[in-house]
Amino acid sequence: MTFEYAPAPESRSVVDIAPSYGLFIDGEFAEAADGKVFKTVSPSTEEVLSEIAQAGEADVDRAVKAARKAFEKWSALPGAERAKYLFRIARIIQERSRELAVLETLDNGKPIRETRDADLPLVAAHFFYYAGWADKLGHAGFGPNPAPLGVAGQVIPWNFPLLMLAWKIAPALATGNTVVLKPAETTPLSALFFADICRQAGLPKGVVNILPGYGDAGAALTAHPDVNKVAFTGSTAVGKAIARQVAGTDKKVTLELGGKGANIVFDDAPVDQAVEGIVTGIFFNQGQVCCAGSRLLVQESVADEVLDALKRRLTTLRLGDPLDKNTDIGAINSAEQLARIKALADTGEAEGAERWSAPCELPDSGYWFAPTLFTNVTQAHTIARDEIFGPVLSVLTFRTPEEAVAKANNTQYGLSAGIWTEKGSRILSVANKLRAGVVWANTFNKFDPTSPFGGYKESGHGREGGRHGLEAYLAPSSPEGTR
Ligand code: NAD
Repeated sequence: MTFEYAPAPESRSVVDIAPSYGLFIDGEFAEAADGKVFKTVSPSTEEVLSEIAQAGEADVDRAVKAARKAFEKWSALPGAERAKYLFRIARIIQERSRELAVLETLDNGKPIRETRDADLPLVAAHFFYYAGWADKLGHAGFGPNPAPLGVAGQVIPWNFPLLMLAWKIAPALATGNTVVLKPAETTPLSALFFADICRQAGLPKGVVNILPGYGDAGAALTAHPDVNKVAFTGSTAVGKAIARQVAGTDKKVTLELGGKGANIVFDDAPVDQAVEGIVTGIFFNQGQVCCAGSRLLVQESVADEVLDALKRRLTTLRLGDPLDKNTDIGAINSAEQLARIKALADTGEAEGAERWSAPCELPDSGYWFAPTLFTNVTQAHTIARDEIFGPVLSVLTFRTPEEAVAKANNTQYGLSAGIWTEKGSRILSVANKLRAGVVWANTFNKFDPTSPFGGYKESGHGREGGRHGLEAYLAPSSPEGTR
């Protein structure tokens, strides 16, 4: 007899979502200057969660002015004082993590197991980590008086709404900058709850401003003449537009863009362990991960064995209610994203690749896509080159380590890669040849606030996380910097 542990779904009642929210400017929630609003919906049910004020150019200007004013005092605070605020924010995030995990799952569609066990612990960890840096900047090789840049204009995507916010806001505040952040249009709620946490922590007004809205608000923010630092995470197309926009200005820029990560499985890898890594690599967060292992490169001699084991494993994944603690695969974030995934998968089929989808029933409402893999894929296929940003794996084979490296590097992107082998020497030699910002060995999608993260080639430039993440918010050493 088998016993299955089936905990009750996480209760939605732990989070109190108001029917409407304003923009968060200068410590207050306010309507947009032109009164515009938009709705945010739950991708798993299509239920409207709340109506949100939609920022426009005038609101961006108001928020940047508030951030500029707040910068005077915030940048003059001793680092130890700034640290106290960041530690307070980190502790409040921990205290409210159940509420925030449910909120994020509702607004984004990802399984509660992920928001509870990955997103929220990492969000708190980032604030703790950068709080610890705030009073040590003068002793860390940034020069004796490292100075903040000023106002940071930050634009983030919808796949890890609160975590991307933490990656952006924690290092900016630790270094003495003030912030105007625009969350993605499909996931504004956790950023607005974060605004409330800033108030709860007593953060001085104007240090953090949150402007929900669309790409026009993002473009107005990154173009604003009084923004000194632009930090963007999102698509390569928008990243390129921002790079063009800020060219010739003195804005400092970091761009975290798309990816097409290769997960390379050698013939000596333990198959079960590698299969778990492949599943984590591409099906975590429904594959909507910039560093997803979306290309499986498997050594020809073990390809059949690995694919059989992988298909068996995929039939055990549970797709459905993201608030159910048993759920492995949640909803796709939006109807537009679902349409993009479907179109690319159809292209894969039309170009001759062989499609296999895990047998699972898709709910009637909401945006869903079954875990899918494609075999008979060659480098010429669109699905081997373009980022799908969904639960779709393209499988290619190789014979030698040299061929694996050549195929892994044959992409416009360079964000992530994984290597599965028992041989330590092979890990070192292959990792050194991969043009990827992060290379995991015998694991995948492991994150830590102490590690820098970022891309080569069209995956962007600059690094977030770790000590490197601070450099992006500091001017070259100046005699009048902050402590
Ligand atoms: P997107 O580029 O469409 O949107 C990202 C953000 O930019 C949103 O807030 C959006 O409103 C805003 N935006 C849109 N047009 C803009 C403009 N012209 N100027 C300024 N801001 C603008 O991307 P998306 O669909 O939200 O996210 C998916 C993409 O993000 C994928 O390509 C993925 O690889 C990438 N991503 C990268 C990382 C990373 O760390 N490298 C992390 C997460 C997502």
